[in-house]
Amino acid sequence: MHVAYRPFYDETHTAPNGLLLISLSNNAIEWVLFANCVWCFVRYNIDIMTSRPSGSRIKNETPFILKVLRRNVSIVAFLVVAMSGMIAVYWYFNPNPASVEAVTGAVAAESRDFFDPDAPLAPILKPVKPVPVTQRTQQSPPPLRIGLIAGHRGNDSGTECEDGLTEVEITSDLVEKLATVLRESGIRIDSLDEFDPRLNNYFATALMSIHVDSCDYVNDLATGFKISGSPYTDSSQFSICVQQAYVEATNLPYHPNSITPHMADYHAFREISPGTPALIIEVGFLHLDRDRLVNDSEDVVNGLADGILCYLEEVR
Ligand SMILES: [Zn+2]
Repeated sequence: MHVAYRPFYDETHTAPNGLLLISLSNNAIEWVLFANCVWCFVRYNIDIMTSRPSGSRIKNETPFILKVLRRNVSIVAFLVVAMSGMIAVYWYFNPNPASVEAVTGAVAAESRDFFDPDAPLAPILKPVKPVPVTQRTQQSPPPLRIGLIAGHRGNDSGTECEDGLTEVEITSDLVEKLATVLRESGIRIDSLDEFDPRLNNYFATALMSIHVDSCDYVNDLATGFKISGSPYTDSSQFSICVQQAYVEATNLPYHPNSITPHMADYHAFREISPGTPALIIEVGFLHLDRDRLVNDSEDVVNGLADGILCYLEEVR
């Protein structure tokens, strides 16, 4: 039964679609089966009548079709009843053309906004408005991670003053304060010893090693800081950021021309993973800059923190 497909035969929707094809093919198959049944029925009766001997109670002058109907009256009655039922059901469920047009027209109007206007339309299409899709696979930047080496910690005392003040006391204190400041900014900090085992293939956003210059009095110019960047990974931007921020925070002079081989070929540069920018900074001289480093280190810590934050802004 194909009453449900009736709307697709409407001449305004002549383009083929899935339901129409199914409907047509169903009809074709049924007609073939029906024709086959009729042909079998007729052949059966022809065979019977042609084999019947003369003198039958059915007179020979009776038309052939009446003979057949009379002989198969029960089958004929069944077919009449069945076809009447089918026709009744067909007309009962068949929607009137006006409502079909209203339904298909409304869907077509909506669908044309989103689909090809020339495409075949059918009421089974439910138009879905386009929705912006959030990019879920967007690459997020890796978490920020900074390594801080407290110079000489875990190994030796470093520079030592006559009164017993050591470089490692200063560097340990500075790293602790610097780590606190940076962690407050949400940055992961690794506080590392001078020869920390973690330095082997260490990978981070950047690595800074903090040292202090000699406690011996050289002359009145022995004040200020020095920076040496890793020769293995481009660390120039990191060095520039720290240098500028440190000058701004401390007003200490920068000594670019007194980098020692020990700084230029710093052991950690060779140990860490390629791709981790690194620098070593001598934050001041323990003799002339002592008070600033020991008693008033806030500017020093802020200068180093600002330099690191500057670099993180650059690479972000
Ligand atoms: Zn040192």
